[in-house]
Amino acid sequence: MSRPIVASLDLQALRQNLQVVRRAAPHSRVWSVVKANAYGHGLDRVWSALGATDGFAMLNLEEAILLRERGWKGPVLLLEGFFHADELALFDKYRLTTSLHSNWQVKALANAKLNAPLDVYLKINSGMNRLGFAPERVHSVWQQLRDIKNVGQLTLMAHFADADKPDGIDEPMRRIGQAAEGIDAPRSLANSAATLWHPQAHFDWVRPGIALYGASPSGQWRDIATSGLQPVMSLKSEIIGIQNLKAGETVGYGSRYRADQERRIGIVACGYADGYPRQAPDGAPVLVDGVRTGIVGTVSMDMLAVDLTPCPQAGIGSPVELWGNAIKVDDVASAAGTVGYELLTALAPRVPVVTV
Ligand SMILES: *Cc1c(COP(=O)(O)O)cnc(C)c1O
Repeated sequence: MSRPIVASLDLQALRQNLQVVRRAAPHSRVWSVVKANAYGHGLDRVWSALGATDGFAMLNLEEAILLRERGWKGPVLLLEGFFHADELALFDKYRLTTSLHSNWQVKALANAKLNAPLDVYLKINSGMNRLGFAPERVHSVWQQLRDIKNVGQLTLMAHFADADKPDGIDEPMRRIGQAAEGIDAPRSLANSAATLWHPQAHFDWVRPGIALYGASPSGQWRDIATSGLQPVMSLKSEIIGIQNLKAGETVGYGSRYRADQERRIGIVACGYADGYPRQAPDGAPVLVDGVRTGIVGTVSMDMLAVDLTPCPQAGIGSPVELWGNAIKVDDVASAAGTVGYELLTALAPRVPVVTV
């Protein structure tokens, strides 16, 4: 027997989440965002379950090429475009759509020798100030692009910093509207949060990522609890040791947890080297033998400890869910001061993954 930890992926949930997204934005086409190895799920494992999508969006050329090699013929969007001009030969060969966010990229595209024009997503800086052209520059860049023979279909693109807040897109939408004034082109603005919560931002293409994987764009599960979205990844392991503590005894590195009374503790084969957050405090939720309890003590590299008080029947070999259907990754993340995105994308390569 090998170490009992496993991440299991529910591909039916993934298919269903794509449907939920489509129902939320019924008049838009969908870029399924599969960057960061499909948010830690494994692009090669999950892409075909998203086969009903209209296109795939990511950052890595390697991931884009993988999809082409697997036979995906639909649109593929590189969200940050090319990083060096010499990559344009591969964009050309694999027929990839590129984002353009900087002048040097416009020049490089103009000077490239391509077999056919590339579709372009012109990135507007909505006020987030990461990538993109300032709204007042968009019109002139647009006109420049229209005269470049390497440019095919043009789409306007922007991204939101605060789409998880009720009034979080008001000012960005104003800036984008100003930038797009007089430009007759499709638009793609909405990440998961805007897809779920801001219909006025849907336009022609939405770009959901985290929602497809069944975690919340706000970091709070309650915000998507009634949406129909279901967790795709479950991280599971087993109890591999039991300790009976006397009052005053401690558990783990730094002796952070000290038993207030006699306590039965289970040791779980899962640690931070598997992707479980080391920052998780005592009480971070965990499911042991079907019962919700909390972790105790500092998370080790390969193990963590759980309080067995609420589940006295549990013993060696009892199943543990670190996150999944019962314990939402958002809840573990928020206990640890982060978001589900970080935990999902940090699943360690040493964890075996199975699809169900
Ligand atoms: C990551 C990303 C998305 C998807 O964001 P989610 O919050 O995961 O839905 C959309 N657009 C761009 C440009 C991104 O980088």
